[in-house]
Amino acid sequence: MAKKRAKIRLFVEGSLGEGQGIVVSKEQANYLFNVMRQKIGDNVLLFNGREGEWQAEVVEAGKRSVKLACRVQTAPLQLPPDLWLLFAPIKKARTAFIVEKATELGAARIMPVLTDFTNMDRIQIDRLRAYAMEATEQCGGTFIPEVCGFQKLSDVLDHWPADRKIMFCDENRKALPVAKALANETGGKWAIVIGPEGGFSPVEVERLRKMEQVTSVTLGPRILRADTAAVAALTAWQSVLGDWD
Ligand code: SAH
Repeated sequence: MAKKRAKIRLFVEGSLGEGQGIVVSKEQANYLFNVMRQKIGDNVLLFNGREGEWQAEVVEAGKRSVKLACRVQTAPLQLPPDLWLLFAPIKKARTAFIVEKATELGAARIMPVLTDFTNMDRIQIDRLRAYAMEATEQCGGTFIPEVCGFQKLSDVLDHWPADRKIMFCDENRKALPVAKALANETGGKWAIVIGPEGGFSPVEVERLRKMEQVTSVTLGPRILRADTAAVAALTAWQSVLGDWD
């Protein structure tokens, strides 16, 4: 009987390669053995964010430990565009939403930034990283975006790389819509900046608009919630400069 296509996908830390043995974590062993009733000879899909996706066979199965052996690479590592998303954290669930959607839509790096009007003063970075990993696991992705620690927007801008352009989503000003604003731009190193519920402060707007790497854009005549804006901006950027072609 043809081997049934593996339907379980798991993130593992270790390296993946032909014949590579993998001992999964206790939680994963419990999931595979007790929940999914995997037994010797069954196949699961593994990815580690670096070496693509591999089909691996269960070679040892017990409730406390499960050992797998990589058999064949089923998908190469698929890198997203070199796109960063800078966003000001909002309520927990909506921040999780932003991280999950940025992962699915193809951000390479996700940077929570503290702006003048941000009303969240701490975030659970480990949880955000877990959301990025889970979104990749569930959507068949092989690359997990880096989720950076919480930094002040002003500090990030103080050290902004000269060769990385910024699409500044400015709810205040008359700016061009994304397709027009980016019409003569090329891909490469980019970032999208989204403000908090309270918007950007005048000082922040002033500073961003003065940066020569910045292209200000509007996301339409209606004010969007920060999480909606993040999805809209990522989608608009991807459709003009990204890897959707
Ligand atoms: N409190 C502000 C809105 C902030 S919305 C106000 O009422 O004006 C949160 C963030 O989403 C904004 O800082 C901006 O980055 C983005 N955003 C929302 N709607 C937008 C629009 N129509 N054009 C550009 N950016 C927008």
